[in-house]
Amino acid sequence: MEDKIDIKSLTLSELTQFLEDMGQKKFRAKQLYSWMHEHLIEDFDQATNLPKSLIEELKEKCRLTALVVRQEQISKIDDTRKYLFELYDRNMIESVLMRYHHGNSVCISSQVGCRMGCKFCASTLDGCVRNLTASEMLDQIYRIQKMTGERVDNVVIMGSGEPMDNYDNVIRFIKLLNSEEGLNISQRNITVSTCGLVEKIKELADEKLQITLAISLHAPNDELRASMMPIANKYSIDEIMEAVRYYIDVTTRRVSFEYSLVDGVNDSDDCVKQLAKLLTGLNCHINLIPVNPVRERQFVRPDMKKVYSFKNKLEKYGLNVTIRREMGSDIDGACGQLRKKYMDE
Ligand code: SAH
Repeated sequence: MEDKIDIKSLTLSELTQFLEDMGQKKFRAKQLYSWMHEHLIEDFDQATNLPKSLIEELKEKCRLTALVVRQEQISKIDDTRKYLFELYDRNMIESVLMRYHHGNSVCISSQVGCRMGCKFCASTLDGCVRNLTASEMLDQIYRIQKMTGERVDNVVIMGSGEPMDNYDNVIRFIKLLNSEEGLNISQRNITVSTCGLVEKIKELADEKLQITLAISLHAPNDELRASMMPIANKYSIDEIMEAVRYYIDVTTRRVSFEYSLVDGVNDSDDCVKQLAKLLTGLNCHINLIPVNPVRERQFVRPDMKKVYSFKNKLEKYGLNVTIRREMGSDIDGACGQLRKKYMDE
């Protein structure tokens, strides 16, 4: 199974080369690419304008990634939809569709599990099984678009996994997603969230993409951060800030900082002060997320009064702050919870 070519992860020029090597004319690549990335086929047989002989050859040599929905949870509150998908090797991943006034947003997973070990996160409880290929990231969006019949406008790589730990596949995914011959989702509508792998942030800057970078900060000093996120033992906040400044310089994009508020842990006035010192003057935006309780962990969210007060205090420093609107709170909300529940059962 493994030696088959993952044909949906190929760029149009790679696909052209591949088909030419099979003795095919150039235009066949455009046709096949459009079937896969515009018409979102899940089976080569659906490519009805390709010769039968070519289809047979493709079936023999290639794997056409097509995720299978194993579960769909629909929120009664806001119509958020959470999907559990099965991969070709029977691994499971989850994705979320959120409906906003400004369009449909899909949150995708980038790995099966995660190895970063953040203390409040359900995705990392059983470690990382493997990276997702570009086609497996794309197909989360393709399947959702196909099932709902609605266009996906925004993509956030904020599901299970650390995207910068699967760098090459993530970059390939973004380029395919953004390609004119595919769904053509604008780079500005794509967000990559990372716990802060410093070298990779700089490498990402050098790709000169117009995507949004989000940094999972969650604490304003190294000591507190390390108590929540093991990655803080490897990279200091100073190193992250240097990489972020480089990212802003090179791309001129505004960066987001995610800050999951945990009651009595990172919501003190002292934290406000330190955070303000760190971020004032930077072209950035802070997204406060009242922590989502995870069954296996004892983190508690502050009450909303405290959350608003934290926001107000930051705003007094002139910072740009929003509170993440909670979506789908009646379905397994936090990253990795649906998959974890399924695997445990
Ligand atoms: N690995 C990447 C992306 C996945 S997590 C990263 O670390 O950014 C997406 C965001 O949700 C991160 O900011 C993560 O820290 C946060 N998160 C994970 N579990 C959470 C929970 N239980 N409550 C609130 N935020 C959580």
